[in-house]
Amino acid sequence: MSGPCDGRFWQWIEIERKALASNVRRFRALAGPRRLLLAVVKANAYGHGLIETSGPALAAGVDWLGVHSAEEGLALREAGLGCPILMLGPAAPGRIEEAVRQDLRFTVYDRAAAEGISAAAVRLGKTARIHVKVETGTNRQGLPVAEVVSFFARLARLPGLEIEGLSSHFANIEDTTSLAYPRRQMALFNEAAAAVREAGYPIPIKHIAATAAAIVFPESLCGLIRMGIGLYGLWPSKETYLSCRLRKRRPFVLKPVLSWRARIAQIRRLSKGAFIGYGCSYRTTRPTRLAVIPVGYADGYDRGLSNAAYVLLRGKRAVVRGRIAMNFFTVDVTDIPGAAAGDVVTLIGRDGRETVSAEALAALAGTIGYEILARLNPAIPRRVI
Ligand SMILES: *Cc1c(COP(=O)(O)O)cnc(C)c1O
Repeated sequence: MSGPCDGRFWQWIEIERKALASNVRRFRALAGPRRLLLAVVKANAYGHGLIETSGPALAAGVDWLGVHSAEEGLALREAGLGCPILMLGPAAPGRIEEAVRQDLRFTVYDRAAAEGISAAAVRLGKTARIHVKVETGTNRQGLPVAEVVSFFARLARLPGLEIEGLSSHFANIEDTTSLAYPRRQMALFNEAAAAVREAGYPIPIKHIAATAAAIVFPESLCGLIRMGIGLYGLWPSKETYLSCRLRKRRPFVLKPVLSWRARIAQIRRLSKGAFIGYGCSYRTTRPTRLAVIPVGYADGYDRGLSNAAYVLLRGKRAVVRGRIAMNFFTVDVTDIPGAAAGDVVTLIGRDGRETVSAEALAALAGTIGYEILARLNPAIPRRVI
């Protein structure tokens, strides 16, 4: 296993361009040529690296990028990306003017925000594009269906605004194989769109589907698909995978894009009965060779992986012994002949025939793959391979 050869880093993250492109092709096949594909790159592109991932995603055929905050959108502009960028979260008031100047699209669902954006657009002599978000049952962001038409009417009177999109978001599609709740949300969304049409407003780009809906609920495909986790090659959940198989859809192959690797800082020889790490939570039962990995929970290697996960070394598994500390953890390499300081270990990814998936770490840590990825420390260097 080879890594960056300059020796500046103890750990790094590899982004596999071919896997990303393969995932984009899968969604393109689902979406057809005319629907827009938006790559959700919030949370540092789910830990993959905002800039490192966005360029390759666009090169692979993604049409739009979706971010949470204005800062993320502005960072993309700073990096020279000129594609359409939609902010999925609310823009902080102090960022609105810069966001309008840089042509970031806004998600809007309240009057005060719309007025602020309009005022900034007028000051700059620009048109701000906005996507109106409808509340259909997630109760996080959005305005009630009954208020959508009057909101459009109010927006039409504000200068400097163009209503480009109508959106909503599913609450309960990843956690079940039942489509009952998403069907209700979809019906409300369609109701809102019909009311807008009847009131005589141009129909903007409609979008509600994220990864899971795009795969298991084709009726939810409208003008644009917001792909997050699937773009990175993970299934949203076991239920989504099961749902896909139960509905006998063609096998949908996703390829994990990210690998996380580190180098062994030191090999230690312990006698039988030695304690390892904080809390002395592990005691050796045999003479043990222990490899020290200079990675910890500050980097996103969850403390819940203490005495539970394994890393890969020379194509073999090396079990975590003792607690994960802030910047260190240790693994047992007694049964891996030749293990030496400087060797590369794989924390997430493949080595030979063995794989550690983000989902597997999530299961051990009591969370979901999304969180394992999103919490990878942005300071870890990312390299596109
Ligand atoms: C994060 C997010 C997505 C992407 O969801 P995935 O399940 O990762 O595909 C889509 N839309 C909104 C509004 C989001 O916040």
